[in-house]
Parts: sequence; structure tokens; C-alpha cells
Amino acid sequence: MNTFNVSVDGTNERIVVADITFAPDEAEATKWAAHRGHVVEAHVLKLLKSELSTEGFNVEEGKFAQQDDLFVCGTDDIVVSDHEGNATLVEVKSTMKTITWSLLLQWFCQVQTYLTRAVASPSSPAKTTTETIVGPGYGQNVFRGAVADGYLSKYGESAKMLDDPSWAKDVKKADVVAKALVDWALDRGATVFCHCFQPMGACGVRHGQVGMVQMSMLEFGPDGKPYYELEGKTILKGETDGSSFPNGGMRATHTAGGYLALDPVSPVFLREDTIFLPACFVAYTGQALDEKTPLHRAVQAMSTEGARLMKKLGVECTGMVNNIGLEQEFFLVPREEYYMRPDLQLTGRSVMGAFPARGQEMSDHYMGPPTTSTPALEAMREIQDECFKLGIPLKTRHREVAPNQYEMAPLFGNAIVQTDQNLMVMQIVEEVAAKYGLAALLHEKPFAEINGSGKHNNWSLSTNEGAQLLNPPQLLAKTGNDMVFPVVMAALVSGIDKHGDLMRMSIASPGNDFRLGAMEAPPAVMSMYLGDDMTTYLKAFSEGGPAAYTPQTKTLSFGADAIAPIEVPAEDRNRTSPFPYGGARFEFRACGSSQNVSLINTVLNTIAAEGFKTISDRVDAGESVDAVARDLLSKHMRVVFNGNGYDPAWPEKAVELGIWRIDSGVEAMKRFNDTKNVELFEKMGVLTGEECEARRAVLLEHYVGTVEMEAKVMCDMIRQHVLPCCNDAGVGDRRAIQKGMERIEKSLKEVEEAEDEAAKATLARELRLDTMIKVREACDAAEKECPPAKWTLGTYENLLFLDTHEF
Ligand code: ADP
Ligand code: MG
Repeated sequence: MNTFNVSVDGTNERIVVADITFAPDEAEATKWAAHRGHVVEAHVLKLLKSELSTEGFNVEEGKFAQQDDLFVCGTDDIVVSDHEGNATLVEVKSTMKTITWSLLLQWFCQVQTYLTRAVASPSSPAKTTTETIVGPGYGQNVFRGAVADGYLSKYGESAKMLDDPSWAKDVKKADVVAKALVDWALDRGATVFCHCFQPMGACGVRHGQVGMVQMSMLEFGPDGKPYYELEGKTILKGETDGSSFPNGGMRATHTAGGYLALDPVSPVFLREDTIFLPACFVAYTGQALDEKTPLHRAVQAMSTEGARLMKKLGVECTGMVNNIGLEQEFFLVPREEYYMRPDLQLTGRSVMGAFPARGQEMSDHYMGPPTTSTPALEAMREIQDECFKLGIPLKTRHREVAPNQYEMAPLFGNAIVQTDQNLMVMQIVEEVAAKYGLAALLHEKPFAEINGSGKHNNWSLSTNEGAQLLNPPQLLAKTGNDMVFPVVMAALVSGIDKHGDLMRMSIASPGNDFRLGAMEAPPAVMSMYLGDDMTTYLKAFSEGGPAAYTPQTKTLSFGADAIAPIEVPAEDRNRTSPFPYGGARFEFRACGSSQNVSLINTVLNTIAAEGFKTISDRVDAGESVDAVARDLLSKHMRVVFNGNGYDPAWPEKAVELGIWRIDSGVEAMKRFNDTKNVELFEKMGVLTGEECEARRAVLLEHYVGTVEMEAKVMCDMIRQHVLPCCNDAGVGDRRAIQKGMERIEKSLKEVEEAEDEAAKATLARELRLDTMIKVREACDAAEKECPPAKWTLGTYENLLFLDTHEF
């Protein structure tokens, strides 16, 4: 076992060191070693003891109290437990001085280094593993590459077998993987496994956004003795109740069966005592009950149709990959203030709150140094660290525009893997924040008046052979055919022009209601930005011009001799477009920060697939490929808009041009089962009509449920806090507030009584964006007048500036 989970709870009253496998003494360690190949535990124990003694602590092996599987001790004590929880091996009493957090971490780093070395020693079965891991622990918790190699080689296989997903169709191969997984897990102190899947409509306040049942690998032999084992068939398949997750009516309690199948594209990973097997989730009828299955189908359709079209262009292509990179924004706020906000706790956003004297004026938070004066930097480091161990390449971190807003982004990769990883990133952000006295808010609009959070979905396509379809010079070099780029662009431009409504639908998360078109995110118009250079070229091409396209560059001088001039693209950036081209990729900028991006990429890949298919079908019917591309471009280039998307006049103009503009997220959701859209999804084999129906219902239900929680918590806050505070301090328009609360309650009743989900959602949207905002004004005015000591809710002022807090 060579990982540690060291956590300090919010109040610093206890330090828990868990998950470490230690043998009590050398003799026992030798026994374990003979058994399971473990050789290091006793050495670690010795090392830990000596480290602690030299630091002036008394090391005692003694008693401890066990509560809820955690080993609890006083402020200055450390407990190291064995992972089976049957003995404490070391209890340290700090009688000489107080153990500081950093000292503790230091020790554990040392122990970890020792362990890594020990595991890599010649007697260790995991030798190749540790030696070939890149960087400090990168990927050590994910079963692929060098890590998987180390364990699969024992059974005559290598990690290469995992690169071809067909291993999951072969029970014999799956048996090998299962055996290797058990070895790996036990080496790492893990004895539990689960299939983890993505329930429908899981964005928002659901922690982790994935579903799972965790099961021990425990089995019993004929002699009644327990041992750990996994079989191939156990990892390949799982069965569970499909009726309790949102299913849009596809499952009922009396027809509840839901099935899980391992997703071999997304690697198995390990956290604490559990290995996680990414999985797809379908009903007994085969209908998708999750977000991931349709994404697989859409990527497959895009790949099949992409390869078909490439063949017509003379390009060698066995299939296509969709790559994405997700820029994740979030807020970090002081946790003690978060506990004083029932709205943030229950719904992730503030439904009221007077605006403080300082906000995001002068953009003075944007890219500001993440200083060490608050715990945010330390928390982001740990988030990165944890992600690196899981093989999530979270490369960038920075401060965003709003106070207390941050962003982290990985290096891009396979869309299916990146989606799973992003769900994990969001969970880790929440978990790590809590350890640093912070609360992470992943909601799209936690606070009014300042920027909300998005998740930019950077999107590109590439052939299996590595030709990047959106990178003109690379594409030409790889394929030798300058017609490929304009043909691909014709497919995408026409697809987005036709199906902008679906793109809008895919980003209609409840939180995005407050962002789109609010000068912090693109408007609800689904246009695309290509830049003047490429637009001029494509227009000319559509009118019969040449196919060859060379993106222009220019030399940028800084006007100072000491600074070397640099080469830049001729295209400027445009951050007001929902779908700008950014050199080799498109960036879908309007996605919500809390969203699972599966649906978003399901839509994008389906649109691309249909675009490719349309061209191929017409070519099969006798037209030439360039004639079809020119025709599509001339019909659909209207969707290209290079101007300022934040210009108030643009949305109206867009409508005149016939570009999709759907201001209301609810209206966008309703379009999921529009005839055009059902035809598209059915034709591409992505969703059946029934599945579209169900998804539409789930989205609308999710929306209504979200608004209901927000409205109810607002009423509770008014009744339990705002009105009593106003009475106490003698401030505020109490009558107006009381009346407002009653109005909210009346609207809530109307929502509940409305006949169907669509009608409910329409009313809920009005309640949220009209009634609640008006009532909020009266509450905020009262808060402004109220002396702070008499206001019992957390305030924006205290929530928004970490620097004003002591940690
Ligand atoms: P920017 O602010 O320019 O959008 P960031 O570094 O914040 O840059 O994020 C860019 C994201 O786009 C990263 O996740 C990056 O890996 C990803 N990306 C870059 N090139 C591609 C590509 N060809 N396909 C998909 N994603 C890409
Ligand atoms: Mg970006």
C-alpha cells in the first residue's frame, strides 16, 4: 500500500490517518509477504516510529477509540490504523509539542517516498509499475499503462490489451483483468469495487454526479475462510434497480431492472479502499438510463460516418475520435459562512443577499496571483495532486473574474474518458475544499451581480490515424488532400445551422438560466465564430474558389527592442460567441459549470455524424464531394457570426437571419422530442423516440425540482431569518417581504398543480426569474439596513472575500 489519506476535519479536533496497511511487527510482515507479496509494512512502521521519535514525540502503541470506522483521537494525537480496522498499531501522544499540519504532511511524504522505493525493490511484484510512472505519482491510481502492465504481466498479458475495448467481450480476458485488478487493489489496500455510472439529469447539487453501489471483494472458501477475489464476469456486468433514478417513465417500480456493463474505454481507477469500474447503465429493455450510453452511440455514429466520408476523400481512416478539454470554473467560499446559508447548502446558489461595496470592479481578481494568504492555493494544489494520481492531467489553475472564483483545466483527451474525469474533478474539488475550511460551489450562478461559472467544452475530431480534422495545416500534411478541410467544415457549419436548437437544449441546465446573454456568457443564439480569414476563404470556396486553405499568421511586435517579436494567428479571439473556432478546435463556451458534458458531446457528435452522412449519401447518389460541400456552405454560412455576441442588437438580428435563438432554457428542453430532432437521433442510432421523450421529461423534472427547492428554501429563509431579523432590528419593509413570501408559496402551489412537466417547468421558470427576483429585492434592501450583528444569514461580503477571513 503506498498511498495515504490524511484528513483533518473542519474543526481540527481530530486527525484521522486512515487507509494504511501496516503489519504489527517484522514477523507478521514476513508472514504477509509470504502470503500476498507485501514486504514493506513493517519497515514503514519502523520508519514512522523513528521519524516521530526524532521529532521529539513519544511513540506509544496503545488504545484508541473507534467511531464510525474512523479512529478518533485528540487534537495532538495521530492514530495510524491498519486498513482492516482490527488493531491500532501506533498511537502517538504529542506531549512535547503540538503537531502541526505541515509537519504531519512532511512525515507522510517521507514515508511515501520510502514506500515507493520499497515497492520498487527487486523483491516487489510491482517493480515495473513504480519505476515507469511518469513524474511524482502521476497515474498511480489508474489501471492503465505502466501500472496495469506491472500486474497484467504476471498473467502473461500487458497493458496493451486494455487499448482494444474488445477485451471486455471475452470472459477469459476479463478473468485475467479481474485477477490483476485484485492484486493491484490489495497491494494498495483496497478491498472494495463498484461499477460507477452516470444517472440521467444528475447535474446540479447531487454530490459526485455519479451512481454506484460499493461491494467488498470478499468471498468464502469451502473451509469457510474468507479471501478476496473478482471474476471476469463480475467486472463486466452488474445489475441494479433502474427505477429510483430519474428515468423519464422508462422504468417503474414493478419493472425496475437496470443493467450495468463495464465501459472499457474509460480506465478503472482507485480511491481509498475502492476500485471504480466506469460503466454504462441501461434498462431491461435496452433503453439508455444514463448519460454515457448515448455518448458512446454518438461517438460511434460520428466515427462510422466520418470514416465513410474520409474514404470518399481518399483518406485512410479506420475510425474517428472525439477529443475534448474542459475548463472547469468554480467558487471557493469560507465554509463557516456557507453553513450560515441554507440556500447555498441546499441548492448551490444564493436566492438573496445584499451586494457588498466591492464586487468584480476593475476585474481585479482575474488571473490575480493565488497567494498563500488564503487556503485556496493549497486546496488547488491538492486538487491537482489528487487528479494527477488518477491520471487526470489537470494542467492549469487560475483565478477567474469574480471574487473567490477559480478555474482549472486539463490537457484534452478522449471525450468519453474526459467526461468521466471531469465528474471526478468536480467531486474532488468539493471534497478537497472541505478539508481546507472552504466550500466549493460548482453552480452556474451562486451569486447575483457577479459572474457565474461555466465549463468550456473544447471540442475537436481526429482520425484514428491522427489527422486532426480542425487543424488545416496538420490535416493537409497527414492526408495530402486539401479538400478534406472545407468538406469537414461544410458538414459542421450545416449541422450547427440546422440543429442549433439541440445545442441550446444540451446546455439548458437550470443554473444557465442566469448566465446566458448576461454579458458573462454568450447569448442564447447558436451561432459560430470562424474569424474573418477563414470565413472569407469558405465563402470564396462555396462560390467555386480553391479548396486550399492556409491560415494566415502575423508577426507581433512589442515595440521594445529587448522583446522578441512573436508569430500569432491572423485570427483574433472572440469570447462572445457560443462556439468559436480557436485553431484546431471549437470551444463550446456556453456550457454550465455543474453540467455533466455527456449530453453536450452526444449532441455535437450526432450533429457531426449527420453532417458527414449527408455528404456521403449525396455523393453516393451521384454528386461530387466538392459540389456538395460548396452547396451546403452556401446554404448554411449564415450561422457564422464574427461580430460582438454581447451586442444587444445581435439576438434580434440573428432571428432575422434565421439562426436558432431560444432564450428560455425550458423552451429549449421542450424541443428534445421535436420531430426533426427525434428523426436525427433515430437516424444516427443515438436515441430512440422513446428515449428522447424520457430525456425531455427528465430535464424538465430536474428543472422543476430545482426551482421548487430554491423557492422553498427562500420561504424558509424569510420566515426563519429575514422577518425575525427585521423585527429585531426594526428595519425593512416587512409587509412587502411577508406578501412576497406568500406570493412565492402560491406560485409553488400552481407549479405543483400544473398538468404536466412542460407546464410545470414553464411556471417554475416564471416563478424563479420573475417572482423570486422581485421578492429578493425587498429582502436585500432590508439586509442593507440591518446592523450586521442582528443579521443571522451569511452575507455576500463575508462569502466573497477569502482574504478577509482568518483560517
Ligand atoms: P483558453 O483560455 O485558450 O480556452 P485553456 O488552457 O484555459 O485555454 O483551455 C483550453 C482547453 O482546450 C484545454 O483543456 C486544452 O487541453 C483544450 N484543447 C486544446 N486543443 C484542443 C483540441 N485540439 N481538441 C480539444 N481540446 C483542446
Ligand atoms: Mg477557453
